[in-house]
Amino acid sequence: MIVHRSTEIYLDSNATTPVMPKAATAAFDAMEEIFGNPSSSHTSGLRARSLLESTRNLARSVLGAGDGQIVFTSGATEAIQTAIFSTLCHVRELRKTEDGPDKTENKKRLLLYGSTEHKAIPQALHHWNTLLNIENEVVSIPVDDKGMLDLDFIRQHAADADMICTMAVNNETGVISDLAEIETAIRETSPSCLWLVDCVQAVGKMKLELAQTSIDYAAVSGHKIYAPKGIGLLYCREGKPLTAMMAGGGQESGARGGTENLPGVAAISAVLEELDASPSKTFRDEILLCEFRDQIVSALTDAFPNIQFNTPFESSVPTTINFAVEGFDNKELLDLFDAAGIRVSSGSACGSGVARSYVLDAMGVPCWRSLGAIRLSFGPCHGRLEIESACKKIREAGQALSSACLINSADGDDDSQTTLDGLIQLKRGSDCTWLFMDAESKTCMVVDPFESLAGRVSSIVRCQESKVIAILDSHGHVDHESCRSMLVNVMAESMLSSAQSDDLLGWPENLPTLVVGDGSSAEYFSLGSKLVVAKVDLPGHTTISNAYLVGSLDENNSLPAKNVRFAFTGDTILMGGIGRTDFPCSTITGMYESLCRLPKLINDATVICPTHDYNNELATTLATEARDNEFLASVLDPVISMTREDFIDRKPAIDKGITDETNSELVCGFLKDSSTTVSEANAIRNLKEFLNQHQNSLVIDVREPHEFCFAQDWDELGFSEPPLNVPLTQLAGYLPFLINDKPADQAVVFLCRSGRRSGLAAALAGRLAIKNAMHIHGGLALNTNQTEPDPEFLI
Ligand code: PLP
Repeated sequence: MIVHRSTEIYLDSNATTPVMPKAATAAFDAMEEIFGNPSSSHTSGLRARSLLESTRNLARSVLGAGDGQIVFTSGATEAIQTAIFSTLCHVRELRKTEDGPDKTENKKRLLLYGSTEHKAIPQALHHWNTLLNIENEVVSIPVDDKGMLDLDFIRQHAADADMICTMAVNNETGVISDLAEIETAIRETSPSCLWLVDCVQAVGKMKLELAQTSIDYAAVSGHKIYAPKGIGLLYCREGKPLTAMMAGGGQESGARGGTENLPGVAAISAVLEELDASPSKTFRDEILLCEFRDQIVSALTDAFPNIQFNTPFESSVPTTINFAVEGFDNKELLDLFDAAGIRVSSGSACGSGVARSYVLDAMGVPCWRSLGAIRLSFGPCHGRLEIESACKKIREAGQALSSACLINSADGDDDSQTTLDGLIQLKRGSDCTWLFMDAESKTCMVVDPFESLAGRVSSIVRCQESKVIAILDSHGHVDHESCRSMLVNVMAESMLSSAQSDDLLGWPENLPTLVVGDGSSAEYFSLGSKLVVAKVDLPGHTTISNAYLVGSLDENNSLPAKNVRFAFTGDTILMGGIGRTDFPCSTITGMYESLCRLPKLINDATVICPTHDYNNELATTLATEARDNEFLASVLDPVISMTREDFIDRKPAIDKGITDETNSELVCGFLKDSSTTVSEANAIRNLKEFLNQHQNSLVIDVREPHEFCFAQDWDELGFSEPPLNVPLTQLAGYLPFLINDKPADQAVVFLCRSGRRSGLAAALAGRLAIKNAMHIHGGLALNTNQTEPDPEFLI
């Protein structure tokens, strides 16, 4: 695989922008020289006041604010709160007077907001509506598939609304609202309803003439336009209600108490000066920005042939590109981009942690595109060189996915493919599909194929030019349809003719037998020259249920328990519990027999590969599960073995616990979150120092190969040679080595980008009682000196 070096390209300007050098200098000067309090009447104070007022005038000019009031705030969120608070205080006062809405009418008054607004809007509406006891109904205005507000809905409801909140440009998609049409729709029926427009993503990208419209409030944020965090603006139309949320020394004409943030004001002043000098009040000519967008779109399309754009380009600002790549969730793409040194985000930064985009959901975008959405937003001040460099890196990122066999890149370099060997765990949510590749013989098998992972399986198999011996289900699933038959068809060219099967679970026909650990005979096939796969019945969770045992033959050509390295036990043993037996197709006595049989078929260290992984625990062993699960332990214990009657008695209560706790019929079985969080003692804070003191440590980078290929400066981090790359998706295959062969006193240090995946790996190792398993606190992100973007990139 080609190794790339990474420096940072920042393409997340909708989340925040770097500070314009001019603005930083202005802030610094304000701290050093204009440090007076604007409320003081001496010379220092007067200078500070002058800066404050000249900035206010600049803002007025840039926003076309006319005689409207400009209030300095800490940011847009505060500006939004103030507008909503002011409106609702006004509504409350009106209701006490004759002028208020007709109280005899039983109809609830409304607070309307666009369904794709930034969360600051609906949350502030709900918050103040409750706190001020207004009791209006907070209602979202639907949008169409292009993200445009439903104007009929506005026409229909505006007369009943006390406030309407809309946005000028959407932060996730870049969609530009047609404010003129919205205004007409509102004012047709509601001349006096107060209208707030969130202008955060519009300022500097388009001309705003606020005073020429009937917009009552507008919110602006400094850190989206190259000023620092902590400064923002509220525009309030002349004569409209304005109530201080913070009372204090009467600053901002009584609209906001507290000494003003003068360094922030000085910084935004430098930016506004720049904007004011342009006739269009924008940073850059739109034609140039559209050219940049075309370049990036072209690079993305080359890099990811399965890309779908969520941004309707014809009605959006050119600086925002929202997209998804079929077959990938946004986490995977974020990790890839970050490794390549490209900073993008999934949806909105404020919503991180929430996997889906509510904005795309509101637009009715298909679920996979909402789940996989990536927002790339360059700033209006990005330079041509930076855009070209971004395009180069985007193409490298696509190439890395292609080398890892995850996509078929248009200009894929066939020679650079990574060879995949051993066990691979593919996951979507809690669903696990397992792929066992033997690189030497170029053969493989697939266990428990889920439809959401079928594309990835076929892409890997095809790209590795591997032949499929079998596609197997461990059992007849209750919670989903197996996609085995579909996959057999899709991969027809890759299927070995011996893979023929009319078995319900896909087991090939006419296979020889061997003796397994409990002395019974089992059919098997060879996987490469060293391993065999044997099938044993393991009913319980469902009546038709198999376990597939992978190991090496002994001298008698048998597969004793001690030789079994991996066991695919479906939903019999899961992390933190055993499979449910309360489905119509379950057999509770079958489960008892299967559990009693299992210790004779596999050993304590055999890696168990389940169909579901509900808590991100990856894999387990029988010893681990017995240690943490008293019920299972007493079934497995040959001395005090639980009787069949006891088992039948106690098991239903456990199954009921699963449904009660998860509120779901579809969870196939677990008892509790068994994940052990890695103790702080196992988190390394100074990697370099640790490696100096523990030179024989085994360091494992658990990032995927398409991330690992963007090399770090390993020597700068204290490595004499690059660490071993065992991606998290292949860690289960590496566990037999860690369990059986790693010297107990040798430290194993897991690392990744952010510390999340390495934390999971260390927690897994801890659960499996692998000694001295550590991870790096904060991951590589906090342990490397990444090159920051050149602040001199501006116009
Ligand atoms: N509105 C929009 C459209 C935004 O993009 C953001 C920031 O992400 C905000 C409001 C909140 O701005 P601030 O961070 O200044 O409070």
